[in-house]
Amino acid sequence: MKTGDQRLTSEQVGSIVTMLGLTTDREFNCNECLQHVSEFAECQLANKPVTEVIASVEQHLALCPECREEYEALRKILEAGQ
Ligand SMILES: [Zn+2]
Repeated sequence: MKTGDQRLTSEQVGSIVTMLGLTTDREFNCNECLQHVSEFAECQLANKPVTEVIASVEQHLALCPECREEYEALRKILEAGQ
């Protein structure tokens, strides 16, 4: 998935990856993840079938504690509303 019109050299990408302490590419960045995280939470709560987007969110959450925090907060809200 392309993330937009920003172009980074492989050197820049390498330094970002090093900075984040990651060795694998992430399909989603945090913004994209947060755009779909409510979908993911609903999917989890309703046991809906997992789509490609949902799978990518799940993958990102496994790697990103910040987004996982967002997800957990959101999930608590959704659970409280049921
Ligand atoms: Zn994230």
